[in-house]
Amino acid sequence: MSDAAVKTKQDAAGANPAAEQDLTDGFHLVIDALKLNGLNTIYGVPGIPITDFGRMAQAEGIRVLSFRHEQNAGYAAAIAGYLTKKPGVCLTVSAPGFLNGLTALAHATTNCFPMILISGSSEREIVDLQQGDYEEMDQLAIAKPLCKAAFRVLHAADIGIAVARAIRAAVSGRPGGVYLDLPAKLFGQVINADAGAKSLVKVIDAAPAQIPAPDSIKRALDVLKSAKRPLIILGKGAAYAQADEAIKNFVEKSGVPFLPMSMAKGLLPDTHPQCAGAARSTVLKDSDVVMLIGARLNWLLSQGKGKSWGEAPKKFIQIDIEPKEMDSNVEIVAPVVGDIGSCVDALLAGIDGKWPAPPAEWTNAVKAKRDDNIAKMAPRLMNNNVPMDYHGALGVLRTIIKERPDAILVNEGANTLDLARGIIDMYQPRKRLDVGTWGIMGIGMGQAIAAAIETGKPVLCVEGDSAFGFSGMEVETICRYNLAICIVIFNNDGIYRGTDVNKVSDDPAPTVFVKGARYDKMMEAFGGVGVNVTSPDELKRAVNAAMDSGKPTLINAVIDPAAGSESGRIGNLNPQSVLKKK
Ligand code: ADP
Ligand code: MG
Repeated sequence: MSDAAVKTKQDAAGANPAAEQDLTDGFHLVIDALKLNGLNTIYGVPGIPITDFGRMAQAEGIRVLSFRHEQNAGYAAAIAGYLTKKPGVCLTVSAPGFLNGLTALAHATTNCFPMILISGSSEREIVDLQQGDYEEMDQLAIAKPLCKAAFRVLHAADIGIAVARAIRAAVSGRPGGVYLDLPAKLFGQVINADAGAKSLVKVIDAAPAQIPAPDSIKRALDVLKSAKRPLIILGKGAAYAQADEAIKNFVEKSGVPFLPMSMAKGLLPDTHPQCAGAARSTVLKDSDVVMLIGARLNWLLSQGKGKSWGEAPKKFIQIDIEPKEMDSNVEIVAPVVGDIGSCVDALLAGIDGKWPAPPAEWTNAVKAKRDDNIAKMAPRLMNNNVPMDYHGALGVLRTIIKERPDAILVNEGANTLDLARGIIDMYQPRKRLDVGTWGIMGIGMGQAIAAAIETGKPVLCVEGDSAFGFSGMEVETICRYNLAICIVIFNNDGIYRGTDVNKVSDDPAPTVFVKGARYDKMMEAFGGVGVNVTSPDELKRAVNAAMDSGKPTLINAVIDPAAGSESGRIGNLNPQSVLKKK
């Protein structure tokens, strides 16, 4: 029984000396259920009806991190799930707080991150009759289509089973977001403490291994062996799986060039001799067999077809935990369904000792292309131009991550994202966190905070000025918890570029911000360190000082407003008007 449950008993006894029962209540049953299952951190925003719950959870030893907006708390919980393989927990108030958290829940589901959104809600009787309760909303119905599973608990005795179901739903199979609806009345419901303790469930084997069928492994290896120009694509599902050694062994024993998707960078170092990151277009176009490991053929891979995949016929092998992912866009000739750890172990066993290296003609061609591209880029990364361009600034950050490979890099923006992804090499698994499957802006501060809390490693957060704006108020949160986070804002005065002009009125153009804005002052306002830098040398000094000190720091890096391009690398996704621009 928790201390607080004992206290409830004492209070109850004080109020009614005749009461002989030990009592507990909804508040404490939720706390005990989370703790029993090792969920010891909550990201959220307090308010009715969960304010006391947060206090009690903190008193009971759960780490409760209060944010300034639920969406950021939700993004923190989502990435905590990705980093730990345990559901990240986000706690919100009803209706508006719930809706603010819902974006993150949908994001977690889309990205296959395990997360549980717990929201307080208004009274069922009033909500269902639509009689206008405080923050009235049928939250369960709204959450359902946006998550893997959604549950509501009406009786305190059901809390244990509900939390267990939520955990299992979030982490088993393809991970995702789960919604748990807790009406205000539930928290205060009192039940016998023994019955309460017995109602709790410690989830056993929450994400059971899913062993691939031996036939599917043989088929996949036969196809891979037949390749003249094989390629392995590693996705963030592979990084999530935490099967790092097995994946590294498999890639190395197979000798096949590999291409990491954005968040899979570092699973093997980007500087690995088999890494084809700098030869991306070549390997996509020219490969004849592609093995996907925890990566989907979605828009990030042009759905597996079209110009970027070239003319040559291709065979796809796909390793994924979700059977329905197979054939989603193109034919998968060798589907392997199972968890990545088990699948890669089985593949490794199948190639042990007797695997022919891929044709040298192919591996040499990939290597030549890669070395050529890297050599072409190198001088641009060493420029010390003022005003700074992206390459000069990123060249510096690239060296800093090379020297501090266990730091976590959070990255969002348009040009800031696309160029940093290509330029900054990663050396260790799960060190690069970014905008994920939706390419959303706003994940920055939530991810940075969760990364610092969950890993204890220093965090470098590289943000476009626009991207930062979505979650910028959380610099107060960073200062309040004194987190070792260094935010670098690539400030080019606007979205994509800061040079757009409105030709018809005094209003600024839709894509530009205040010129010469000093984001560093925001950090100073809360007691953190703010630095304004205008050259790559200054940037280097400021970031190193921040990473050494571990103090919350925000560096306003002034970038040439003309340096970016529209929508970064995905400008092609903008629809075009047939009418001439004014
Ligand atoms: P990326 O954006 O890096 O390409 P995606 O999010 O598109 O990655 O793909 C991740 C894939 O990994 C999803 O299809 C998901 O089902 C799968 N996945 C996630 N976790 C596991 C796991 N433990 N084992 C197998 N597959 C997994
Ligand atoms: Mg900008």
